[in-house]
Amino acid sequence: MSPEPVTLRYAFACVQCEHAWEEEFEIRQTRGADGLIQAFYFQHGVRARSPLVQDECPRCDAPGIGVRRRRRPVTRRRTG
Ligand SMILES: [Zn+2]
Repeated sequence: MSPEPVTLRYAFACVQCEHAWEEEFEIRQTRGADGLIQAFYFQHGVRARSPLVQDECPRCDAPGIGVRRRRRPVTRRRTG
């Protein structure tokens, strides 16, 4: 039984030029041989860095990007 990948949308903001943007990350979790759960991040099917360690602004290349907020995925609620 493997957990389904989750897609989360993160909002970023550059501390230098105040550029703000959003990116979607697909998060897949796997259980390693040691029993620990590891999370891997993908964008467009390609392995990506964790959104928490984004370090470059796409506009001014400044380091020090802040994650402003994280939106929860849309969850389907079972009714009845
Ligand atoms: Zn910037």
